[in-house]
Amino acid sequence: MAEELLKVENLKKYFPIKSGLLQKTTGNVKAVDDISFIINKGETFGLVGESGCGKSTTGRTILRLHEKTEGNVEFKGIKIHDLKREELRKLRPKMQMIFQDPYSSLNPRMTVGQIIGEALIEHKLVSKLDAKDKVLEVMDLCGLAPYHIKRYPHEFSGGQRQRIGIARALALNPEFIVADEPVSALDVSIQSQIINLLIESQEKYELSYLFISHDLSVVKHICHKVGVMYLGSLIEFADKDGLYKNPLHPYTKALLSAVPIPDPTIKRERIILKGDIPSPANPPKGCKFHTRCPYAKPICREAVPIYKKVDSNHYVACHLY
Ligand code: SF4
Repeated sequence: MAEELLKVENLKKYFPIKSGLLQKTTGNVKAVDDISFIINKGETFGLVGESGCGKSTTGRTILRLHEKTEGNVEFKGIKIHDLKREELRKLRPKMQMIFQDPYSSLNPRMTVGQIIGEALIEHKLVSKLDAKDKVLEVMDLCGLAPYHIKRYPHEFSGGQRQRIGIARALALNPEFIVADEPVSALDVSIQSQIINLLIESQEKYELSYLFISHDLSVVKHICHKVGVMYLGSLIEFADKDGLYKNPLHPYTKALLSAVPIPDPTIKRERIILKGDIPSPANPPKGCKFHTRCPYAKPICREAVPIYKKVDSNHYVACHLY
């Protein structure tokens, strides 16, 4: 039976909007608005949606890089947001993050060896003597040569820098990694190499990932489950096959219609959504998607659709179901 590693329950993260001379709070940007999901050990959960939908804020709030507004995040039964600073510091190695832009997340004045070894020594995971061996071990796993240990980030290509970022995370023996758009800054030819590296590392260390991406074609290669976010809400969730073979929510259908099909004999009609994403500071009433949905009915403008189970492990929030 699957072992639960991370549980997110009714998580909310609002950013206050301040205005006036006295900087009074006049509203909130509801970046994450009541979302729940579970990630099991050894599993990858893909969180997809357009830019600004709250995916990255979800990842950061889970790791407590942002404080939550409401809700709960449990890692192996430990409530992350209840931990004291020192308790959180001790847990940090187990929950790591890989960033979209590997260059800005690597200190340009440090060598690869220092970058990968820094947290290892800080968290006292190995002695200073053994740190170099551990650094070389993860560098090898990530496809970096031993002589790279003395090089600086600017000497590497984008793909290699992302390998350094992954090696830095893996050095700490994490159990859970938030990968925030880890391949979207890379050339398509390099993307699959990095995806393969993440899959190999997952198999070797039984890692669990929250894989954040705006691109459903990338998510397909790595995820076991997929959640689709729109304006801070999780609007559909399913196992990978369930979502790709039978998308239910009109927004998911529109996103999937933009994914190229490798078979040229199959034609899929592209669904072009009208209008822009509304502001998360002032989301539409009822279904947040109703301003852009081709199937919107009068009820959609009034009532928030309930998140319903429509199949085993397939959930959707839409009045059509
Ligand atoms: S609830 Fe209505 S507006 Fe929202 S996605 Fe479903 S049909 Fe479209």
